[in-house]
Amino acid sequence: AFNFSAGPAALPESVLLQAQSEMLEWGKARASVMEISHRGKDFEALAAEAEKDLRDLLDVPSNYKVLFLQGGATLHFAQLAMNFARPDQTADYIVTGAWSEKAVKEAKPLTQVRIAASDEAGKFTAIPPRASWDLDPNAAYVHIVANETIHGVEFHTVPDVGAVPLISDLSSTILSQPIDVSRFGMIYAGAQKNIGPSGLVVVIVREDLLERCPKSIPKILNYAEHAANGSMLNTPPTFSWYLAGLVFKWAKAQGGLKALGEINRQKQELLYGYIDGSGFYRNPVEISARSWMNVPFTLPSESLDSVFLKESEAAGLLALKGHRAVGGMRASIYNALPLQGVQALVDFMRDFASRNG
Ligand code: PLP
Repeated sequence: AFNFSAGPAALPESVLLQAQSEMLEWGKARASVMEISHRGKDFEALAAEAEKDLRDLLDVPSNYKVLFLQGGATLHFAQLAMNFARPDQTADYIVTGAWSEKAVKEAKPLTQVRIAASDEAGKFTAIPPRASWDLDPNAAYVHIVANETIHGVEFHTVPDVGAVPLISDLSSTILSQPIDVSRFGMIYAGAQKNIGPSGLVVVIVREDLLERCPKSIPKILNYAEHAANGSMLNTPPTFSWYLAGLVFKWAKAQGGLKALGEINRQKQELLYGYIDGSGFYRNPVEISARSWMNVPFTLPSESLDSVFLKESEAAGLLALKGHRAVGGMRASIYNALPLQGVQALVDFMRDFASRNG
């Protein structure tokens, strides 16, 4: 079967098989990786290697810290506001879908949130043109969600926001193609799409920003404290970290982000190309803002949705139900979903359309 889940999402089969083979005894530990201390030298070596591999993949500059944290991206919606903006300061938000709306809600109790641009009126089908953004040059940061998992809207270029640090949620696009980390003050991503199991959040933050983290907030919420303690202020999600390390090795073995980006380009071209030419299915997102990872689409009538879902599942095409906020279907085509999976989906969609058109 091919798994199109939006997240927790499919992981590379070879990674799962390796984890299975190491489940009872990992390396020289004579115990599962889940059963050993995070402060022992074996796990410390694993953690250091995972960080190095992630740095290699994303070409992370040396003046950035890479943190392996918890709480889902949702905690970081709040935590980043708590760390990088004072309550009396403004923070600019670009709202391009449900997740940027959520980021706004979580930051509001902590700082003066300004909506510098929003496509709410367009039902989140485009990225507001950069020239229309009402940015405050004194804002603490500008926040974007690089890829809106529900609405299928993605930034394909990093916006220029001047000297104000750009902070971005990359949960559903990290590792899908190369990015220039140096353009961001901080990026963060929940693991459960392109990195590994849920429970882990990767944070990549420019060191000078850590000087802003207030001493007055609890240590456990302070990014500078996490950085100073190697992401081990408390017990980290060791199994998720281990599995993420295997995924990073897998991504390197695929040829890194350039090679993965090329496959992802082909996958999305195949799917959007078919949808647009079908005269049956429809994706409402402006072409320049279409997500490479999450492809929502509708059928000509909602009455066909349940039939489509039943038949697609029977054909081994799993988890295509769209998010309730958008309706219809959604195919999430993260790194672990191969081109053959997209081809199988397109073949099924073509056959379904011919029988129901
Ligand atoms: N941001 C984006 C872009 C997401 O897709 C999600 C979840 O799917 C989240 C944030 C929230 O992540 P979590 O549920 O791990 O907090």
